[in-house]
Amino acid sequence: MEGNTIKGLNSTEVKNLQEEYGLNELVKEEKSNAIKKFFGVFKEPMFLLLVGTAILYLLLGDAQEACIMLVFVVFVASITFVQEWKTEKTLNALKELTTPEVTVLRDGEKRTIKSFELVPGDIVYLKEGERIPADCDVLEVSNFSVDESVLTGEAEPVFKVVKEEGLKNDSSEYWRKDRVYAGTLSIFGTCTARVVNTGFKSEYGKISKAVSEAKEELSPLQKKTQYLVKSLAIAGFCLCLLVIGLTYLYNHNIIQSILSGITLAMAIIPEEFPVVLTVFLSLGAFRLAKNNTLMRKISAVETLGAATVLAVDKTGTITKNSMEVKKVLYKNNIINIEELNDRELSNLMIKSCEENPYDPMEKAIVNSAKECINSMKDSVRNTKEYIGDMARTTNGEDYDYHIEIVNKIPFDPKTKRMANIYKEDEDNFYVAAKGSPEKILSLCNLSREEEEKVEKYVDEMAEKGLRVLAFADGHSVEIKDNLEEYTLEFKGLVGLQDPPKEGVKEAINLCREAGIRVIMITGDYSKTAMAIGNEIGLSFNNCAITGEAIDRMTDDELCEAVKGCDVFSRVVPEHKMRIVKALKKNGDIVAMTGDGVNDAPALKSADIGVAMGKRGTDVAKEAAHMILMDDNFTTIVKSVKDGRRIYDNIRKAMVYIMIIHIPIVALALFSPVFNLPQVLLPVHIVLLELIIDPTCSLVFEGEEAERDIMQKPPRSPKEPLVTRGMLSKVLSQGIIMFLAAFLPFHYLVDSGIPVDAARSFSLITLVMSNVIMVLVNRSNTEYLIHIFKEKQNTARLVVNALALVMVLGIVYVPVFHTIFKTRSLNFNMLLLSCLTGILAGIWWEVVKFIKNKKAEK
Ligand code: ADP
Ligand code: MG
Repeated sequence: MEGNTIKGLNSTEVKNLQEEYGLNELVKEEKSNAIKKFFGVFKEPMFLLLVGTAILYLLLGDAQEACIMLVFVVFVASITFVQEWKTEKTLNALKELTTPEVTVLRDGEKRTIKSFELVPGDIVYLKEGERIPADCDVLEVSNFSVDESVLTGEAEPVFKVVKEEGLKNDSSEYWRKDRVYAGTLSIFGTCTARVVNTGFKSEYGKISKAVSEAKEELSPLQKKTQYLVKSLAIAGFCLCLLVIGLTYLYNHNIIQSILSGITLAMAIIPEEFPVVLTVFLSLGAFRLAKNNTLMRKISAVETLGAATVLAVDKTGTITKNSMEVKKVLYKNNIINIEELNDRELSNLMIKSCEENPYDPMEKAIVNSAKECINSMKDSVRNTKEYIGDMARTTNGEDYDYHIEIVNKIPFDPKTKRMANIYKEDEDNFYVAAKGSPEKILSLCNLSREEEEKVEKYVDEMAEKGLRVLAFADGHSVEIKDNLEEYTLEFKGLVGLQDPPKEGVKEAINLCREAGIRVIMITGDYSKTAMAIGNEIGLSFNNCAITGEAIDRMTDDELCEAVKGCDVFSRVVPEHKMRIVKALKKNGDIVAMTGDGVNDAPALKSADIGVAMGKRGTDVAKEAAHMILMDDNFTTIVKSVKDGRRIYDNIRKAMVYIMIIHIPIVALALFSPVFNLPQVLLPVHIVLLELIIDPTCSLVFEGEEAERDIMQKPPRSPKEPLVTRGMLSKVLSQGIIMFLAAFLPFHYLVDSGIPVDAARSFSLITLVMSNVIMVLVNRSNTEYLIHIFKEKQNTARLVVNALALVMVLGIVYVPVFHTIFKTRSLNFNMLLLSCLTGILAGIWWEVVKFIKNKKAEK
């Protein structure tokens, strides 16, 4: 056998080979080019406006103002730059986490590495459902078939064979049977192979040009925002023209007029909206990753919060998949496994499993069978019978399963059974089979009566929540490929326990409060599924929908059926697709879990396809929108909560942006209308932008979830981003803020106080009301006072403090007076301006109070 001589590479060899052959990838790394990014900033509208203003000031002969503008240019550019750099870093970190991995033999041990690190000569271990990472020669196979249609166009899977050293390839066939090709898909079985060609040298690499990273498609939210931004931009442009016209009418100075227009334009550009989206979604995805949820599509973060149905696999996601054999049906008695005292059944249990089982259920079966045999050994040690038996085994072990397996009929979720065929001697074969009772009993020639009796036992076990397997064996003189062709004898039932994971019941309760349905999907028997369903608190009217029933239903009937029942049993992956479609047709937003190759279509068509990180195949992961790293149901629920919080915070940030722009825009608009000097000059507007930017991104991103976030029904996907309620909030808060800043200014200027002093008053009022408004709008339910009791949002604290320091600085530090056209205020004026600002923000608390009281009723 090759097996013993297979040697992997060692680290130095890998290093050298990597230098020689490069990385195993087809992506032309787009150099994250700092210079290119730097020039990208020049295209920003805000930047262009600033430069425009600087030029205008120069034309006006005001060199100082021009310089100040240019200083701000640098500020704004570097903020944009840093923000983009940070987002990119986050996205790269996420990408790193989702790159495919492969098991290799290096330095004499099995290791998991990223596929792009493969080099020619590496030994790789492939299993079903994997995307083949490189062209490799086959060294060992077990039932390994590959879908090569991406290369050959042939849909039929190809069974691979071991490459025989020294044998020349049959040159008539270009695609070799003893080689697996990069980009193709393993469907079944396992294989050990040696990498031959990587990256562009692989067959796949030769035919595919360098693909630069595919740009992610815009999410619905992004599209909505783009629309919003465009409309605002157009409206802004019209307003600008109006302001320019008005100013010109009053003072006949074209440059002054354009300057007013630009001030308004700067105030109105809705540049923050798209920034908020990228920052929230990518930071959100990053937070989710820390909570064991990887988003493959960032935009799925927003869908997550809208989920109405979670359709979840039972085994391994809801249950622990730590199977334990509990009961056995042996000679018409259900007994505890410890009481089993039968060598034949124990041996059958072992022989019907894989030789080296990795499935937890098989492991459990083999282990308890071995324990039975060992305890029997203890009790009958040294008796003649025992010694006689020993002689029959090949290696002196107590279980004789080392006799040769000549054929395997592998487990298939459709047939729900498997068998191993052993060679007893030249022309006698032994068949050991196990599987779901229905599928095994139908192969045994039991009378109807006997069958019914067994079925009763099956139900008795299943009602306790045990997964029941039937065992049967037989002898034959021929090897056949179909289990149906053998005559089998029923030997017993085994009941395995697989308890629900911790916290699942609570998580399901939480879902119920949050208006989210949980549906359990399993290949298991109905009674078992219902028993587990009961345990975790699903509702299903004492009836599970079986795969068979689904087959018999029309699509419309299925739509009706899925409304009332949360348990689906004896389902094969192909049914999942129909379940998803039916749920979606009913208007549900469906999250669906899956791990196998056959789950991929359903994962793709679900609103949120969830692949298992541990058990999942590459194929399932590629099709999914998110990957559940810990395969745990409770994590999905946590992520849904996070999704809701992120969406909520996006909305809060958007509301904030709109509110704060109302006073700024209105000031720029109404000062010329009332023929007053501008309250806000371009310098002030950029200064305010320096506060607004981090507030809408960092501060609101970090806000905690509302207390009742999981007690509300999911938001409707049809609901617009900004609802009517939000709009009235925006208008009322924004207008009050404007009035608070504008009326005192108007009054002060009219009563002969210098414009600079009036401006200082308005600035302090505006910034103060902004700070209060952030604190008020951080939550729709909690009151402002509550911030002292909860965990501090550091970003909020810092940004707000800086805002206040900044505004007091430009009012009270004399050097700034000429730059910002301000003047120190006396204490009373300061107090008055602060108070006006606070009142202009805090009044909303009363509205909140009234709303909360209403909601309580
Ligand atoms: P689930 O959806 O709960 O993971 P599976 O599709 O894995 O269910 O299994 C469905 C049924 O197939 C089981 O209830 C059992 O009867 C049978 N089965 C599962 N694994 C094996 C196996 N290794 N050998 C024989 N039968 C099996
Ligand atoms: Mg399973």
